[in-house]
Amino acid sequence: MHAVGIDIGGTKIAAGVVDDDGTLLASTRRDTNPEEPREIEDAVVDAVAELRGSFEVSGVGVAAAGFVDPTRSKVLFAANLAWRDYPLKDVLQERLGLDVVVENDANAAGWAEFRFGAGRDVNDMVMLTVGTGLGGAVVVGGRLVRGAAGAGGEVGHMRMVPNGRACGCGHDGCWEMYSSGSALVRETRAALATDPERARTLLELAGGKAKRVTGPHVTQAAKAGDPLSIEMLADLGRWLGSGMAALSALLDPRMYVVGGGVGEAGDMLLAPARQVLEDELFARAQRPLPEVVLATLGNDAGVVGAADLSRVLLD
Ligand code: BGC
Ligand code: ZN
Repeated sequence: MHAVGIDIGGTKIAAGVVDDDGTLLASTRRDTNPEEPREIEDAVVDAVAELRGSFEVSGVGVAAAGFVDPTRSKVLFAANLAWRDYPLKDVLQERLGLDVVVENDANAAGWAEFRFGAGRDVNDMVMLTVGTGLGGAVVVGGRLVRGAAGAGGEVGHMRMVPNGRACGCGHDGCWEMYSSGSALVRETRAALATDPERARTLLELAGGKAKRVTGPHVTQAAKAGDPLSIEMLADLGRWLGSGMAALSALLDPRMYVVGGGVGEAGDMLLAPARQVLEDELFARAQRPLPEVVLATLGNDAGVVGAADLSRVLLD
């Protein structure tokens, strides 16, 4: 049976009809305002109505950027959005008249990569989504780890730096403050301000204004050989590798799957990550090195994973 997957992002939602094999049969998008839950819900309802015009569906899976209670109903907390104890499942179910399951956005993307993408041949993997925040999905022995309260796999909030940068979650030094698209942009803008001479290529791309520099600009400039951008991506990659080494001590996954917009940078990001992972891995000589690979489902992962998870009964 087909299911609808919805991925609620910062400024837009993506929705799609997905079959049992993880194939996206149709998709649609809506722009939204992240500050306005009601607007997000209207957009979801509208998108689902459009998709149901052409397909019969069994239910709806919704991926949201926060942690979700064990019954997969409420967004309990979102570091970068206004949701607190928000009953998203009930609200949507009532308006849609369909069964709804809510999941963390990175869990949904990671589940899609595990079932149908880069991780389809392994049983133990960690997905890292490098975007506004740093999301994580942990698959152990073929099962998604949700934790006792639903907050498992929130790897972006592992403390990497005592008294480090203040995070949207209220703590400081969290991994996502160093390993996210937002961190990349922040660090790059700071570097531009102190060294405008070295930053000419990037500044040109951003119309001459440091504050207009975006993540895609950095990737584009790096691909064109800009040394500052290459260094910025390598730095982000090294932070990723360092956190991976810490995660390996706990979970020993076979594979790390890296997704999110910054993944576009490919080996400029992954090679430094692999290097630091190898340098910092506990008992390196006595174990295989986990693979570090790019996600293969790209922007569709959240939609595909949410739809699939709407059919999976977790226990
Ligand atoms: C949130 C996670 C989310 C991640 C990626 C983090 O700040 O805590 O719930 O998965 O960002 O959106
Ligand atoms: Zn945090």
